[in-house]
Amino acid sequence: MPEQIKIVEGDITELEVDAIVNAANSSLLGGGGVDGAIHRAAGPKLLDECRKLGGCPTGEVRLTKGYDLPAKYVIHAVGPVWDGGGHGEDESLANCYRNALQTAIDHKIHSIAFPAISTGIYGFPLKRATEIAVREVREFLDKHPQIDEVLFCCFDDRTARVYEETL
Ligand code: ADP
Repeated sequence: MPEQIKIVEGDITELEVDAIVNAANSSLLGGGGVDGAIHRAAGPKLLDECRKLGGCPTGEVRLTKGYDLPAKYVIHAVGPVWDGGGHGEDESLANCYRNALQTAIDHKIHSIAFPAISTGIYGFPLKRATEIAVREVREFLDKHPQIDEVLFCCFDDRTARVYEETL
């Protein structure tokens, strides 16, 4: 695997990287899972900034500051809700990874951590989502060597095992 890619197990809000990615919903007003954890750790100013953004369509991303997080930025990515796989879910998920990485380049972000977008409350099958995540990150890094580090932050053992197998 490319040396820039690493799997870490734990809480994404604790990672000391330039940017963490949030698995947000389209309102950008917070929610459960990793989204709730990020808002709790960043503090209320994050929600104030998110309110001004007026939402975000599926597959797109929005950048905010990280406030009380160790990370300087949060890249909010809106993953697809799983609906059987025939409704463009794969492409929307791929777009989240591509758009987040492009935003990183645009803002001179050199290290970035992703959660397993859409695989929690949104119900995307884990193995299928992981294959998309790994493929998109690899393809992007091949073309953009200015990114030094991409962490796949896995919150549980099962997710970490699937990432290890896939990489
Ligand atoms: P979605 O709605 O996109 O499915 P979830 O937050 O429900 O988003 O889940 C996405 C992934 O994030 C799941 O693997 C979940 O276990 C994981 N997760 C939840 N909390 C955290 C956290 N604090 N750090 C990293 N990953 C987390």
